[in-house]
Amino acid sequence: MDPVIIAPSIVSADHLCLRDQIQSCQEAGADWIHVDVMDGHFVPNLTMGPFMVRTYRRATTLPLDVHLMIEQPERYLEAFAEAGASHLTVHVETCPHLYRTLQHIKSLGCVAGVTLNPGTPVSSLEAVLHLADLVLIMSVNPGFSNQEFLPEAVERVRQARHLLDGEGSKAYLEVDGGVSPENVGALRGAGANAFVSAHSIFSDANGIADGIAGLRAGADRVPPAKVRRV
Ligand code: ZN
Repeated sequence: MDPVIIAPSIVSADHLCLRDQIQSCQEAGADWIHVDVMDGHFVPNLTMGPFMVRTYRRATTLPLDVHLMIEQPERYLEAFAEAGASHLTVHVETCPHLYRTLQHIKSLGCVAGVTLNPGTPVSSLEAVLHLADLVLIMSVNPGFSNQEFLPEAVERVRQARHLLDGEGSKAYLEVDGGVSPENVGALRGAGANAFVSAHSIFSDANGIADGIAGLRAGADRVPPAKVRRV
């Protein structure tokens, strides 16, 4: 199986002691720092822009995995890339020219990611899969941290894995929203290899390192594959 990538979502960090929180993630073995950018239009919440990404960039050497939950993301790609984003992930729902947008991200030297809301068919990725370096399956309706995991996400991960394998793609398959030690094993078993988590890491009663260790342990508990009845 692919190595497990853990990506703490910085939106849930204590921003009063941000450098410490980010460094704690890095020291605890986090692989990426996930940055949830929200615009108050595409999703009903506001978070951060390129200025904050530039700040995060100064605090860590880890890749910054920037998830753009914003309308017209193509207007901001250069700004986020210049601020230090390593990955730029856009939503199919916000990109009428998705093919061009992914090409644009690659031209900026960033990992090109594509994602979709829980109500959007996974098949909507098919036409651009060969361009995607990263596919993100949302397991909550995007907009807020600490929401309940939508169990349908496991089957959607399986569908995405099937499409990627059919394409011969080595793209990351990431899951975002309500990921916890209890569900991460099933997601990995369905074919995901990168896991965003906010609440399970930053709200862990024993601290960030314990939260990350709990997710890694959970990812190793892959349930046995179901036997299909014919
Ligand atoms: Zn995200």
